[in-house]
Amino acid sequence: VRATFTSVHSREKGTTGTIVVLHDVTEQEELEQSRREFVANVSHELRTPLTTLKSYLEALDDGAIDEPQLARKFVGVTRNEAERMIRLVTDLLHLSRLDSNQAMLKKEQVHVTEMLDEVADRFSFQLRQRSIAIQIIIGDNTSPIWLDRDKIDQVLDNLVSNAIKYTGDGGQIRIMAERLPNDMLEIKIQDTGIGIPKKDLSRIFERFYRVDKARSRNMGGTGLGLSIAREIIKAHGGAIAIDSEFNVGTTVSFTLPYMEEGSGTNHDGKS
Ligand code: ADP
Repeated sequence: VRATFTSVHSREKGTTGTIVVLHDVTEQEELEQSRREFVANVSHELRTPLTTLKSYLEALDDGAIDEPQLARKFVGVTRNEAERMIRLVTDLLHLSRLDSNQAMLKKEQVHVTEMLDEVADRFSFQLRQRSIAIQIIIGDNTSPIWLDRDKIDQVLDNLVSNAIKYTGDGGQIRIMAERLPNDMLEIKIQDTGIGIPKKDLSRIFERFYRVDKARSRNMGGTGLGLSIAREIIKAHGGAIAIDSEFNVGTTVSFTLPYMEEGSGTNHDGKS
C-alpha cells in the first residue's frame, strides 16, 4: 500500500487537517514485475541465438571458410539459429496482436473431421520419421462449428507439434473431439510422451515457461506455443487445460463454444 499525504486548510472554518489517500499498489507492481520479466526473457531468448551466430561467423572468418566441409556445417548452424529467431519474433508478434485485441477473428464454418485430418496430414512426414502413430477419434455428435480456421490451426499445430516433440520414437498420439452437453466442442490431444512434473503444471501456460529449457531449445521451441494457444482459445470464448503424468504422457484439452453465425456474438469474439 502506498500512502499520499495532503495538508488542507479551511479558511472559513479556520481548521487544518491532513488527507491520507491509500493506494493498493500490489496489482500494479505485479503487472510491472511480470512486464520486466517478459522483457528480460525476450532479450535473453534473442541474445542466445545471436551469440551463437556471431561465434560461428567469426570461426568462418578466421579460416573455416576455406574448409568446405566445416564451412557447410557452420553455415547450417547459423541458418538454424536465424530460423529460430524468426520463429521467436513471429510468435512474439502473434502474442502482441492477441494482447492488444487487434487479432480480429475471421470465423467460418468448419467440419471438425476435415480440420483434424488435415492437422495429422501436415505432420505425417515427421510422424512417420519418428514411428509415432496418430489416431483421430471423433464423436458422432460433432456438427460443423464456426471458428477462425487459421487461428485454430495454429493452436492445433502448436499442440500436435509439442506432442511429437516430447514423445519418444514409437509413441502414440490421439486427437479426440466431441460435443459436450453444455454445447461446447472439446478437442483433446493426448500423447504417451515424457510428461510434465506436477510442480510445473500450474505454470506451463506462462510465457517462456519450460520444464527443460535446453531440451525445448534443442527441439526448436520458443517457449511461447502454449501461451499463444491459450490466448486464441480465450478469444474464441473457450478454455484450455493440461493434464499430465511424468513419464506417462500428457493430455491438452480445449473447448470452443458452438454458436450459429449471427447468434449474438460478433466475429471478433466479443459479445
Ligand atoms: P516450447 O516451444 O518450449 O515447446 P510451449 O509453450 O509449447 O513451448 O510449451 C512449454 C513447455 O511445456 C515445454 O517447454 C515443455 O516443457 C512443456 N510441454 C508442452 N507440451 C508438452 C507435452 N505434450 N509433453 C511434455 N511436455 C510438454
